[in-house]
Amino acid sequence: MRAAVARTFGSPVVLTDVPIPEPELGEVLVRVHASGVCHTDLHAIDGDWPVKPTLPFIPGHEGAGVVEKVGADVSQVKVGDRVGIAWLHDACGRCVFCLSGREALCPKQHNSGYSVNGSFAELAIARADFATKIPDGLGFVEAAPILCAGVTTYKGLKQTEARAGDWVVISGIGGLGHLAVQYACAMGLRVAAVDVADDKLALASRLGAELVVNVKKDDPVSVVQTKIGGAQASLVTAVSTKAFAAGIGVLRPGGTCVLVGLPPGDFPTPIFDVVLKGLTIRGSIVGTRLDLEEALAFAAAGKVRATSTTQQLGQVNEVLDGLRSGRVEGRVVLTYEG
Ligand code: NAD
Ligand code: ZN
Ligand code: ZN
Repeated sequence: MRAAVARTFGSPVVLTDVPIPEPELGEVLVRVHASGVCHTDLHAIDGDWPVKPTLPFIPGHEGAGVVEKVGADVSQVKVGDRVGIAWLHDACGRCVFCLSGREALCPKQHNSGYSVNGSFAELAIARADFATKIPDGLGFVEAAPILCAGVTTYKGLKQTEARAGDWVVISGIGGLGHLAVQYACAMGLRVAAVDVADDKLALASRLGAELVVNVKKDDPVSVVQTKIGGAQASLVTAVSTKAFAAGIGVLRPGGTCVLVGLPPGDFPTPIFDVVLKGLTIRGSIVGTRLDLEEALAFAAAGKVRATSTTQQLGQVNEVLDGLRSGRVEGRVVLTYEG
């Protein structure tokens, strides 16, 4: 089968033929029809994070396809089912995090396209228990970006604890952020969008943002504080450490900043402001299978729709370069010939 393989960090992935994997106990083999390209794939390929994938590996964790073969002891999924391959390849199901509904924090989890091979391939393995069903009526290309960008921002917004009518600042209007704007609107929140590019901000406005700030021209902290008296919540998806301090600065007292972007590095946190304003700073990593079902239901109901362009798997290196230089609008979704 055709696959894109990362062989050395920081180099283009290699398009090559690799053996078709065999589904083992509790696993299914999925024919991938579409796979979103997330900035996390780029971090993985570049070896950006402290815990690196083991080379060589196949990236991809927004895979949407059809079950082609099932391994032993699989009854919950059958051949022909439409399923997603998401970041959470599996979790142990027994630890305190799994048992308390926080499986994305499971220390024994595996991650598609990182610690196990992912969806930048014509066929990929999923754990049957974690192969989330794609709702009828939602196409593969439409479903793919929801499998990571959608669920991550939907869950991140829930973690802000903002309520209908509250303002949320979405920082970074890329693959994640443009879906965050839509989930926020669907949840009844009012959106201020922040990015470095006017075209991204124009997209945010079209999707429902009422206030936009280009950080290359204006300081988001002073704009948000002056115009709306600060926001109850912020969600930082930007791939820039500079955006993180602003995610805290835009808050009004009692506000919550949820961090989901993962640029390597750290950022200064103003202790005085956090304490005296009673702010909450919270990290959020993808979502549970239930969060993913809910996020997909929003898409199936037409309440969110990824802005996407499609490219063939063979174009994956161009797509990655586009992400690197900030040229991608919304998401690029890979499709697979034959
Ligand atoms: P993307 O490249 O599609 O979007 C990033 C956006 O950030 C772009 O629109 C870019 O213009 C914008 N940006 C760059 N500098 C900025 C700044 N200073 N201020 C505001 N915006 C700025 O990337 P993506 O696929 O949306 O992923 C975003 C980040 O989220 C990545 O670091 C990725 O690894 C991470 N991520 C985290 C999770 C999670 O579970 N926490 C899940 C998926 C992705
Ligand atoms: Zn992702
Ligand atoms: Zn666990």
